[in-house]
Formats: sequence, C-alpha cells, structure tokens
Amino acid sequence: MPDFKTPVQYLKGVGPKRAEIFHRLDIETLEDLLYCFPRDWQDRNETQDLTLPTASGLIIVKGKIIKAGEFRAGPSLALFKATLSNGQDKIQAVWFKHLNRRFDVFAPLKKTLVPGADLWIVGRGDPNLLGAREIRVEEQYLLNDPCWQLHVARLVPIYPLSEGLSQRFMRELTHDALSKNVSAAVEILPLWLLQKRQLLAATQALKAIHFPDSLRELEAARLRLAYEELLLLELGWILKRRQTRGLNKNFNYEIKRHLLTPFKAQLGFELTGAQKRVINEIFSDMQKLPPMTRLLQGDVGSGKTVVALSALLLAVENGYQGAFMAPTEILAEQHMATISRFLRGLALRVELLTGRVPAKKREELLSALRKGEVDILVGTHALLEEDVQFPWLRLVVIDEQHRFGVRQRTTLRQNPTTDLLVMTATPIPRTLALALYGDLDVSTLDEMPPGKTTAHTRHASEEEALCAIKEEAARGHQAYIVYPVIEELNRLDLQSAKAEYKRLSATALKGLRVALIHGALPGKQKVKIMSQFVAGEWDVLVATQVIEVGIDVPNATVMVVQNADRFGLSSLHQLRGRIGRGAAASKCFLVGAPKTPEAKRRLEVLVSSHDGFCIGEEDLKIRGPGEFLGTAQHGELSLKIADLFKDADLLASARQDAEELLRRDASLLSRENAPLREKLISLYQNKWHWIDLA
Ligand code: ADP
Ligand code: MG
Repeated sequence: MPDFKTPVQYLKGVGPKRAEIFHRLDIETLEDLLYCFPRDWQDRNETQDLTLPTASGLIIVKGKIIKAGEFRAGPSLALFKATLSNGQDKIQAVWFKHLNRRFDVFAPLKKTLVPGADLWIVGRGDPNLLGAREIRVEEQYLLNDPCWQLHVARLVPIYPLSEGLSQRFMRELTHDALSKNVSAAVEILPLWLLQKRQLLAATQALKAIHFPDSLRELEAARLRLAYEELLLLELGWILKRRQTRGLNKNFNYEIKRHLLTPFKAQLGFELTGAQKRVINEIFSDMQKLPPMTRLLQGDVGSGKTVVALSALLLAVENGYQGAFMAPTEILAEQHMATISRFLRGLALRVELLTGRVPAKKREELLSALRKGEVDILVGTHALLEEDVQFPWLRLVVIDEQHRFGVRQRTTLRQNPTTDLLVMTATPIPRTLALALYGDLDVSTLDEMPPGKTTAHTRHASEEEALCAIKEEAARGHQAYIVYPVIEELNRLDLQSAKAEYKRLSATALKGLRVALIHGALPGKQKVKIMSQFVAGEWDVLVATQVIEVGIDVPNATVMVVQNADRFGLSSLHQLRGRIGRGAAASKCFLVGAPKTPEAKRRLEVLVSSHDGFCIGEEDLKIRGPGEFLGTAQHGELSLKIADLFKDADLLASARQDAEELLRRDASLLSRENAPLREKLISLYQNKWHWIDLA
C-alpha cells in the first residue's frame, strides 16, 4: 500500500545512514522526497555535433567500446581510456583518478568497460587533450543497466542536494518512489480550479517535475506546483486576516494629549505632512475595535521613529504599555537616547532591555514591568524572552522589521488583540507586500523632512574617498568607512576589516581620531564607541555592517563603502542613509571594482537614484525575493518552486482564486474542499497557530 508518510529510511537503497543525511536536509518522508524538486533540468539528448558547445557544456555520446585500458599519467595519477565508436566517429573517452596504494581505482571500470560493451558517456571536451573527440568522462551508463534512461537521452533532473548523495542515487530513488507511489498523491485543488486555470493534475505534475518528457511539460508542471504553493500562501493570509479582523480589543483609546502635546512641542521641528497623515491612520486604527496590524514603510531618514513614538504615547496616555523592538543593540540604544530626549520632563517611564543588561538590573526592570510601572520598553530580541511580561501591553512597534521573522513578530505581540506596527525602510512593490504581508495594512511616508540633503554618490577610488574624509574632518565633520563583514562570524572578513583599520589609521588617516566598531565587540564597548562618535569624539568610524540600520548622527557627512560590490542594493542604500542627516552637504563613495555585471548594475542604480522605492524594486529584480527578504522570512514562506517576483501574475490569480474559494465555502467544509482544508491545517496549524478553520 503506497503511503506518502513512509519514512525515507525504508525506501529501497536508503537505510539508516542515508536517512541521517536526508534528515539533515529536512527530508523525513517519501512525500518530502517527492516534494524536493530539482533545481535544474539538463538536456542530455545525444550531442549531434561534437565540435559545438552545448548549453550545459556537457557532451553526451552513445557508443560501443572498441578497446580500453589503463595508463599511468604521473606519480599519483592514472587514467583509463576507452575508444568508442558511435557508428560514424571514433571517440576517445578518458577517466582520471588518483592512484591508491591499497586498491585498484579502476577495478569497476575494467570489469565493465570491455570491448563490445555499449554505453552512454557524459563528459566534457577537454581542450588540453586532443579536442572534442577526446572526452573527459564525468558519468557513464551501460546500456545493460536498466536505469540508464533516467540519466541520459532526456531532460535530466539535477537535485539541490550534494552532501553524501549523488545525483545518480537521487534520480533512481526518486524515480522508483514515483513509479510505485505517485498515485497516492492527493489532489488538493478542486476540479473547477484545475479547469479554470488549465492546470495539470497533481500526480501528473509531480511526475513531470522530476522527469519531464519535454520542456513544455516541465513548464506546465512547474506552473501547476507554483500555483498550488501560492494558493496555499494566499489562503493562509486571508484566513489569518479574517481571524484577526474577527477579534475585538476589549479596551478603547481616547486621544488625551497630556503627553502628545508636550511631546510635539519638544520635538524642535514640525511634522511633515506625510508624518501627520500616517499618525492619523495609525491613531484611527488604534481606536477601532479590531487589532491593528500595520506596516509603515518609509525611506531611510523619512522620520519613522517620531511616528512610532506618537503611537506609543497614545497607548501610554490611556494607561497602557508599549514595546519598541529594534534588530541591533546599537539601534535600540539609539532609540532609547532619542526617546529620552524627546520625552524629557514628561511623566512616564521608559526603559531599555538588551542582552547586555546585567541580571540584577534586568530582574528589577522586569518586576517594574510586571507591576505596570514601566510605560515603554525599548529593546532588542531580548524582549522576546519568556519572562518579559507586560500586563498592560497594548502596542508593539517593530523597527526594521525585515530583520525579524514572522514568528518573532507574533511572539512579541503575546496577545492577538495587541496592536502591532511594523516599520521598514526597504519598501517593496505592492503585489509583493500583499503576498508577504497579506494580513497587514500599509502606510507610507512618502515625504522627506525638510533640511535633509541627498548624499552625492560616486563610484570612486580609495584615495579620493580618503581625501574627502580629511577635508570634511577639517571642517569638523565626521565620516564612516564600512567594510563588508556580512556575518560577524566570518573571521577572514573581520580580520581584514581590522587590518584595514590599522593600516588606515597609521597611514592615510594619521592625525585623525579613528575608531573601529564591529558586531563581535562586547555590547558595552560597541555602545561606548557609538556614543563617543555621536558626541564628536571620533572623526572617523571604521565599521562593519553593524551600522547599517537606523544610526542617526547628523554631523557625519562622508560614507565610504569599501568593496561596495559585495553589498546588496538595499544595504548600500541603508548605509548611504547614515549621512545627509544634517544641513551640510554629504558625500557617499563606493569603492571597489564590481566583478560581475550584476554588481556593476547595483552601483549604477545607486549612483543614479536616491529613491528607496526604486532601489527596493531594483534590488528585488536583481536578487529575487529569497535573498531580498533574508532567510528568516523566506524560510517561513518556504516557497519551493514559486518565485514571488517572476510569478507575479500567477500570484495575482492565486489571490483571486483564494478569495473566490472562501467566498464559496467560508471554512472549506465541503467534501470537494476537504483535501485542501486538511493541507492548510497541516501546513499552518502547528506552525503559526493562526489558522482557524473550526
Ligand atoms: P528613519 O525613518 O530612517 O527611521 P528617523 O526616524 O531616524 O528616520 O529620522 C531621521 C532624522 O530626521 C532624525 O534625526 C529625526 O529626528 C529627524 N526628523 C524626523 N522627522 C522630522 C521632521 N518632520 N522635520 C525635521 N527632522 C525630522
Ligand atoms: Mg529608523
């Protein structure tokens, strides 16, 4: 009896050792295996003209062995050569292997590759050998091997796994599993949808995605599977939205103004029109009964913090608590400083909680929080710890939300009726925003505060950049030099950033006050250096990406990005946003030679555009949504085959169909929808606790 839930271990040829590898790759069952789609398909039909390069670079030939034998090629290298005839030509096939003292590396070949044997070879013409008629073999398949047809003379799947599993093994295993079990694949799409969108049936699509008979069939299979994925995603979002909309807050807000008015008076600037509009949108959401779930997007420097603070103050004015979470310690500290400045003299208590708050202080803080004595708690991921309990929490603000995953957003919310405001400076196109945050309303700050200057951006040499730093320092301004250390665990990158810091402070920047900051420094030190920089005690801050988001030092006027080609577009735009925050003109230098056309394109976009929305869209085009969104979010979306960007039309269809499905059958209770309903429950119920199909 075929069963999709059979553990992979019990499939033919797997066993406990390979099952362990599969486990590491998150493949536990037969179903997981069949839904592990190829990452590519190679056209392995017989190469017609051996002198022309093929798309994959591979040469595929069928022939009969005329003669074969082993040769020594050096002290540790041996080769095995076979002369094949394909009817017209003679072809030299060559296998290279390192010698081994203990066994004969060519024993298996010698046994099977004997004169008269028919086989397929897959290899490359080696320019160092005699030209295209001499092929360096990568794979060979004897015609008396019943499986050869899975590996050559067709479109052949290439799987995204390498670790201890060969492509050959994966193909044979998957094919075997398909032929025995594919009929057990449940069709979750109702017939009317299959017809409306002219989609392949589930079993057909599953077979064809692994072993397509033609490119057309492959595309049809991909379309069907991508559609299914997007439909499930959209259904999930709509159901979640319906669930939150159905909830009611059991409290109400009144705009009292005893905090908001003095706060505004203390700002020292007028709110922009966009800020006023967005604050109104947020206030009116907060005053409604259903909980708020709103995304605030606004370019770097558009003034999101003040908007967030206004919302937090409305909560506090009504006697409730608010949380304000940022992705890095530096940013959380900075928010704390800003808030303290803007709220000076007002009757409320704001505290900061990060991983570096000492245990005793933390205990005191948490107890004050539990008693409701802390009105606003600012912090990092540290706010997500279980013992951080806010009895009167009514508003959660998450800054730079793309740095967090969906789960983290929901964890901090604690109670589904808490109002949620998430903020991002990486705007995304509307269709994608809907797909990703189908449960969010969107507000946009589309106006920059006055007095902000756009940083003049250039692709420049290091000398020019350092020269500008010195000039600006002479005027009393400050500068950043940023190195790409994408993960602070990347020792090599970090070492080179440190070495560069030493080099620059001893040479070109000698005489200036230069500091180094990176994510691997203890939190206390990071904060100290940062506050010294804010106070103007350093002229130059050499840094890694830790300063990418949010940092606000108006006196800094130069940003030098080293190896700029290694940063993504959005990162570069964020980095550039660290300057141009004061009245003085500022300059951004992108240093480094782009090595790929893509990298070149990125730098060009940045030089020519200052519009975060354009840049966000370009970034998405260049990188695709997976990388764009970061692994956290992409992982949770877990799209295997659909591409949110390329499949934008399909996404729109899926959204429309999801709405229609639920309009026809609100809880998917009909018999026809039972398989779909079950799939949704298994996908989302345990994961996010947000699907309510009861
Ligand atoms: P972001 O949207 O990037 O988070 P911030 O909230 O950090 O931007 O604001 C950037 C800077 O602009 C801060 O120094 C902030 O005090 C200032 N700012 C915000 N709103 C205004 C305004 N309406 N007029 C002048 N300056 C403003
Ligand atoms: Mg900000």
